[in-house]
Amino acid sequence: KAKELGKDRYKVYEKKIEEEVANRISFENSLKNALDKDEFILNYQPQINLSNDEIVGFESLIRWNSSEYGLVFPMDFIPIAEEIGEINKIGEWVLKEACKFAINIRKKYQKKIEVSVNISPIQLQKIDFIKMVKKVLKETGAESCLLGIEVTETALMESFEDNIEKLKELKDMGIKLYLDDFGTGYSSLNYLLKLPIHTIKIDKSFIDDMMVEEKGRSIIAEIINLAHDIDLDVVAEGVELEDQLSMLKELKCNVVQGYIFSKPLSEEDAYDFLQLKL
Ligand code: C2E
Ligand code: MG
Ligand code: MG
Ligand code: MG
Repeated sequence: KAKELGKDRYKVYEKKIEEEVANRISFENSLKNALDKDEFILNYQPQINLSNDEIVGFESLIRWNSSEYGLVFPMDFIPIAEEIGEINKIGEWVLKEACKFAINIRKKYQKKIEVSVNISPIQLQKIDFIKMVKKVLKETGAESCLLGIEVTETALMESFEDNIEKLKELKDMGIKLYLDDFGTGYSSLNYLLKLPIHTIKIDKSFIDDMMVEEKGRSIIAEIINLAHDIDLDVVAEGVELEDQLSMLKELKCNVVQGYIFSKPLSEEDAYDFLQLKL
């Protein structure tokens, strides 16, 4: 009897796994078709310079408006796109869109506003990544100084020397380089000094902590001072509260990005935001 029960349970388990595999496969297939179906959307979140209150740039953030799954956020599909090898095509699309957006701003407002994109480690490690970036810049007519590239520390750890060489080449082209999610990875001073970057982005988790206890504030102060000592700019991410903003101003943080100024916006809304700000 017990044996039979066990068998049933096994069957239920087996069925569940089969279902999960099928679900996963259909998700992957939808993802593979998303570019052709034009289902990706790029949103843009404004970045504000705290010293003069001016808008200095936008970060591009991808969303997937899937006919089957509804609106899907990057955390739920980027890792899978990386696994199934779709990230390179998606990443190229993102870069193209972002460059076109930067050019449109330039035409509409005669203003140089930087647009940054997030790069997956898999993209960076691809042998012809730099070639692809150059191609997109040429095709869209965007100047490299309009483009920012964000990489995370963890993304750089694998094949470190190789990645550093590529970043140097991008930097020499005039592209702004950001170290994203700063503080969540390995960050030692020694390591930071080796990176050819312009700016660090302090992760939201630190910003969340800064109001909770005195220690949180000291950590932010340390990070900002350290960055400035080695001539890096600082962007604070995920700023939502007035208190956080005024503290970051006091601590001489350079740029703020967060709901306090704006959520990520559609392209049209981003133009409206600029119109009001300029
Ligand atoms: P990230 O690059 O660190 O982007 C910042 C995330 O914080 C974004 O989430 C943004 O919407 C969110 N955020 C900004 N300000 C606030 C705030 O004040 N409060 C709160 N609660 N959240 C805020 P999102 O858009 O869901 O993106 C998550 C991550 O997905 C990004 O983190 C980035 O690592 C990745 N990602 C986004 N777009 C792309 C892309 O085009 N390519 C690749 N490879 N990764 C992307
Ligand atoms: Mg980012
Ligand atoms: Mg970040
Ligand atoms: Mg992140």
